[in-house]
Amino acid sequence: MITRIRVALLLIVSALVGTFAQSQQGGDQFLDGIGETGLVARYLFGANAEDTSRNQFHAELRGAGAEFVDDTQFRRVLLLTGSGSHVQLPGRTLQNEDTLSITGWIYLPTGASGPIFDFGQNAANHFAASASRAGLKTVVVTGGTVRGEAASAALAENQWSDFAVVLDPASKSLTLYVGGARAGRAENVAATAADIVSKTAAANRLFLGRSQDDNAPTIHARLRDVRVYRIALTDQQATTIHQNALAASPQAGNRGRGAAPVISTANIPKDSPLATKLAQVPDVTVQTTVGTLPHMPREVRAIYRNNVKGPDVRVIWPSPKDTTSVAKPGTYTIVGKIAGTSFAPKATVIVKAATGKEVAPDRLAESFPLSQVTLDRDASGRDTPFIRNRDKFIKGLAASNPDNFLYNFRDAFGQPQPAGAEQLEGWDNQTTRLRGHASGHYLSAIAQAYASTSYDPALREIFLKKMNYLIDTLYDLSQKSGKPEKAAGGPSVADPLSVPPGAGREGYDSNLRAGAIRTDYWNWGAGFISAYPPDQFIMLEKGATYGTRDTQIWAPYYTLHKILAGLLDSYEVAGNKKALEIARGMGTWAYTRLKALPPETLASMWGRYIAGEYGGMNEVMARLYRLTGDKTYLACAKLFDNTAFFFGSPNHDGGLEKNVDTVRGKHANQHIPQITGALEEFRNTKEMPYYDIATNFWEIVNGSYMYSIGGVAGARQPNNAECFPAEPDTLWENGFATGGQNETCATYNLLKLDRQLFMYDQTAKYMDHYEQALYNHILASVAEDNAGNTYHVPLNPGARKSFGNADMSGFTCCNGTALESNTKLQDSIYFRSADNRTLYVNMFIASTLTWADRNITVQQIANFPYADTTKLVIKNAGQFDLKVRVPAWAVRGFFVKVNGRDQTVNATAGSYVSVGKTWRANDTIELRMPFGFYLDPLMDQPNVASIFYGPVLLAAEEAAARTDWRTVTLDATDISKSITGDPATLRFTIDGVAFKPFYETYGRNSVYLNVVRK
Ligand SMILES: [Zn+2]
Repeated sequence: MITRIRVALLLIVSALVGTFAQSQQGGDQFLDGIGETGLVARYLFGANAEDTSRNQFHAELRGAGAEFVDDTQFRRVLLLTGSGSHVQLPGRTLQNEDTLSITGWIYLPTGASGPIFDFGQNAANHFAASASRAGLKTVVVTGGTVRGEAASAALAENQWSDFAVVLDPASKSLTLYVGGARAGRAENVAATAADIVSKTAAANRLFLGRSQDDNAPTIHARLRDVRVYRIALTDQQATTIHQNALAASPQAGNRGRGAAPVISTANIPKDSPLATKLAQVPDVTVQTTVGTLPHMPREVRAIYRNNVKGPDVRVIWPSPKDTTSVAKPGTYTIVGKIAGTSFAPKATVIVKAATGKEVAPDRLAESFPLSQVTLDRDASGRDTPFIRNRDKFIKGLAASNPDNFLYNFRDAFGQPQPAGAEQLEGWDNQTTRLRGHASGHYLSAIAQAYASTSYDPALREIFLKKMNYLIDTLYDLSQKSGKPEKAAGGPSVADPLSVPPGAGREGYDSNLRAGAIRTDYWNWGAGFISAYPPDQFIMLEKGATYGTRDTQIWAPYYTLHKILAGLLDSYEVAGNKKALEIARGMGTWAYTRLKALPPETLASMWGRYIAGEYGGMNEVMARLYRLTGDKTYLACAKLFDNTAFFFGSPNHDGGLEKNVDTVRGKHANQHIPQITGALEEFRNTKEMPYYDIATNFWEIVNGSYMYSIGGVAGARQPNNAECFPAEPDTLWENGFATGGQNETCATYNLLKLDRQLFMYDQTAKYMDHYEQALYNHILASVAEDNAGNTYHVPLNPGARKSFGNADMSGFTCCNGTALESNTKLQDSIYFRSADNRTLYVNMFIASTLTWADRNITVQQIANFPYADTTKLVIKNAGQFDLKVRVPAWAVRGFFVKVNGRDQTVNATAGSYVSVGKTWRANDTIELRMPFGFYLDPLMDQPNVASIFYGPVLLAAEEAAARTDWRTVTLDATDISKSITGDPATLRFTIDGVAFKPFYETYGRNSVYLNVVRK
């Protein structure tokens, strides 16, 4: 018996090892230690030419003779016969890239030679590698000129060899690897992928096994595991990829240790400029209650030598991973550090016994409907940056074809496509398991566009029609689920718990290929709606992980959240009752399945990387309860509570509720929407843990993980740009990942959280972050002349933003949220108190508010931020307290004039000031808040900082990519003495370098600088 158990255990262990190795092969989070945001495409060539990365850039076999054959080393491989057969990648595969690395395995028979890959448009613009007996050669050509060439010895014949070719614009190099080791290199290579590849997909010719020359011979070779990366592989990564391919169980490469810094840190001093000026950093005392970690002050007032005044200093306090230090009443001491100095302030923590219940705050402020706030031109009659971005999206949405966004839904339900319908690309193509996510964002965007275009009835009509058409179609599909195919009757399964596998299938799977996707909607349970069959939801329950194998899934509840949010947005904006009906049906379907699962299964699901990513399902279900009064939806919302992240454990002994930083290393956009969800749960339950989770999360993220653009993530450790760094207060040590720092959708979600917290607590800090991220990430994330927008915004020196999806045809997560962000840019300019007695002015953006409840119109006339003033005109007489945000950066005063007369106001930066309560028609309030230049340094490297002017992050314009941090020298006592320029255009010169707003930057730039004070 014992032996038998042992055998069983061994089997389980070996099964797990097998799963790990397989997931490494399946396009996982860390393939060979490299975060998947670095991977553009991966062709295993075991059985087909599919891209096994999540981007699904499936290739095609072209010409006669290509086939998959048995192979002693790799089992099955692709054979190209040299008689014209080759592989072609989709033209859009490399469209948004700058840096490229190509790796793969190749087997050359005796005497074989020819092209291995050739990516470009023609012989005058391409990046290629070829093999011959003379050697392995790579070349980059732009405009007909060879920009770089590297070569190595010939590859051995009749055996497998692996190659890697790295085109790195930052180091201006072209490097060739064979067998994981450097084999050739060219320097001073002035070319990027963007120079080679056209923005027009059809113009790109991306080949494996043939060249741009239509008449040149193709290669006779075997190919296996060809990968395209958007990062410059390091020597170590090239070696790891080589070794892992040969190892029985692959190593995760440098996953555990974190990658080396991308940009040289050699010239950055370690000492803080404050080190020699500080005299003392006083100790502090903080209080907390038993079980909850103290809220430590991030900044402490310091004493400077010679009684000079100086800034508060940033203290990095220890951040325990559990609550044992506060388990009992008493007092203890912790020691903080100040980066770049030897100061070590102490904090005395007094732990008191918990006294009574916390009082749940009321929601005392509300936003205005989008239709009541309109963006205006600026005081000089120019379109503001907000109007410009809004109109790029309004134009694209008005011209969009809703049938494209319904394509995958109709496909899943086996319905015919109307004429002109085209399937979306990107993460909505035929085989991506996230299909339908863009349609959800699109529903929200159309609803918001409808609400936001109150200035143009013709546009509104267009959006209303689209909305109704979308909802009508989705409604009809949802009504089919779980009912017989034919009106006359037939088999069907109405119970969501009884959904069988597809006919002829062994079990549930995520095979969505054309011709293979199951379309037996009558078996899917009543109310089901998605752009794929129910399998992924069921597979998640049964333990499926994230990946691109048919046994793996992406994130079914994430996609569903987008769809349900889009439906509820349509209902709330336009009262579309069918939209609510669809949401109810699917809400019930989800609840029926989830309530049948034990808590441990749910915890395992929501704890699973990306597979268990559920967006804001807790939010949308709590909202559905609020809109319908049906308590089952609130119960459903709670089933999404991420126990470990929220509460530490089922005993509520840690987690965010107890101010424990469970953010460390987490996938940012997987977790931020869970927090807005917690706040919506609070709204509907008044249960304080949900509120504490939201406020503690906000403090932790804003204090310890925030970059200057107002975004987060970009971890180098763990080596995944989508994740928060592994430890708090370590952006320098663990942040600034290769290729990506701040995912734009994560910032979209942070802004939602700011707004919703402000409704409970009218503290300026929430809207200070909103302004920071609105100007410096959301506004900065859109292309200059079209609706193209960013996925990850890179913040390394000399980086440039990459804008995709200008034609709204192929969506990443961030392309999806961009539709929403840019149709609600006005959503937080004004708020009102719940009792309609107070008006809050939060953003200084030219706009008009129609406060319908009070029959009052307020116009804001401004050139802000191209001037440091704004004017409010109150069009109708009325009594209300007008409260204006005094931004945290407004430390040079905040001046108020009412009807031209100076007012004495007690305005403190980072607070609200009341400027009056009784208004006559056409009263004017002029606000002036002199901008100043200031630095926003990294908490753990005070010499690396961003420069702001008022709310505007300034970026150094760069002519080329960089391998080091740009150094600027600034006056040690007053940095503005080192800066010249024109505030009216926000163009400045610092240390001989041109700076402009990051949101107006479309070329290479540096937003973080090595700041030398002289
Ligand atoms: Zn995203």
